[in-house]
Amino acid sequence: MDLSFTPEEESFRDEVRAFFRDKLPARLSTLVREGKRLRKSDMEEWHAILNERGWLANHWPEEWGGPGWSVIQRFIFDNESALAHAPRVVPFGVNMLGPVLIKYGSEEQKKQWLPRILDGSDWWCQGYSEPGAGSDLAGLKTTAVRKGDVYVVNGQKTWTTLGQHADMIFCLVRTDPAAKKQEGISFLLIDMKSPGIEVRPITLIDGEQEVNEVFFTDVEVPVANLVGEENMGWTYAKYLLTYERTNIAGVGFSIASFERLKEVAQMQKKGGRALADDPLFAARMARVEIDLANMQTTNLRVLAAVAGGGAPGAESSMLKIKGTEIRQEITSLTRRAYGSYAAPYIPEALEAGWNGEDVGPEDAAMAAPSYFNNRKLSIFGGSNEIQKNIISKAILGL
Ligand SMILES: Cc1cc2nc3c(=O)[nH]c(=O)nc-3n(C[C@H](O)[C@H](O)[C@H](O)COP(=O)(O)OP(=O)(O)OC[C@H]3O[C@@H](n4cnc5c(N)ncnc54)[C@H](O)[C@@H]3O)c2cc1C
Repeated sequence: MDLSFTPEEESFRDEVRAFFRDKLPARLSTLVREGKRLRKSDMEEWHAILNERGWLANHWPEEWGGPGWSVIQRFIFDNESALAHAPRVVPFGVNMLGPVLIKYGSEEQKKQWLPRILDGSDWWCQGYSEPGAGSDLAGLKTTAVRKGDVYVVNGQKTWTTLGQHADMIFCLVRTDPAAKKQEGISFLLIDMKSPGIEVRPITLIDGEQEVNEVFFTDVEVPVANLVGEENMGWTYAKYLLTYERTNIAGVGFSIASFERLKEVAQMQKKGGRALADDPLFAARMARVEIDLANMQTTNLRVLAAVAGGGAPGAESSMLKIKGTEIRQEITSLTRRAYGSYAAPYIPEALEAGWNGEDVGPEDAAMAAPSYFNNRKLSIFGGSNEIQKNIISKAILGL
């Protein structure tokens, strides 16, 4: 297996770099580099630029608006995107629902929803988790009862990321309470403006309102919004999760944030010595650098293996565990490297254009919130403990 880039791939990387240099607005890359809050309009701006170039849904087939890239090209693009400090593409429509509709949706559903994901008409969110149904997702209790041409939905979802902005939510609902729990679930597309939906924000440990609770009371959903077959939703839900997990691994983000960590560790002086010269700290940085190099190779290996088609399987769990451990360790080391500058939590400092009291290097104010925020990585998309269970079952046969 050849893991080096071909000359064509190298020239593709140059093309991607030129695109980021010419098209990524400096205002957006500065916000991302300094860890500032992105508004919905910021995310939409970048979404539109990528869509105009035809590079938004870069893993979709060309028939539905994808650029026809190989998995290696996608890997290169994702890494360059992080290194250029581009905003992340909000994943719910492009990375999660899109592949499910392409594989399991009807022709009408593809024609109706996929173009609207691309042009940004619909902002999607994910309605999987419920109180009491996270790791044990198949235990979900939100019901959908068919009455004529509609399903009537009752129940509650939770941890719904960016649901406060969403036009639509894709939901797992129970359509057969009598069946074995995995067999009574369906996959529904629900308009967030439907009567009977209430969104309540949850404030997280970093002070952000990134997630929500969503309540459904007698919400009517057209039967045409059922994806695939009734009671087959678990199959579609698992397919979607493999895409979600591979994305969370975020090798590109780790490479970019590790580069910044190296600068910060050189900057901070303690008794005249850079923190990077402290043997204990240097050993932790070296561990991360080695893990990151291994992670890149593993990511490429997995991509090479699925290059012939098909979805990543239990390998996406391996990538999720290791990728998130690395990302969390980098945020932990960065917080330590900023020392006392990372201590104050100043919410206003996360806003674009904040011009208050000097709290150290430009991105120091985000070190603590970023450390706290990234604790989520080992929980969402299925906790890392659950990923280990999946690996032991699928790969080790335990
Ligand atoms: C910031 C954030 C954003 C999220 N966004 C979304 C979203 O947009 N949409 C959505 O649907 N969900 C979302 N989630 C929910 C996420 O998927 C769940 O939090 C996750 O699946 C864990 O479920 P839980 O919170 O119910 O924890 P629990 O399932 O109660 O788990 C608690 C602990 O027990 C461990 N555990 C549980 N079962 C086992 C087992 N069998 N073996 C070993 N250990 C086990 C877990 O690893 C965990 O450490 C988000 C979560 C967070 C934190």
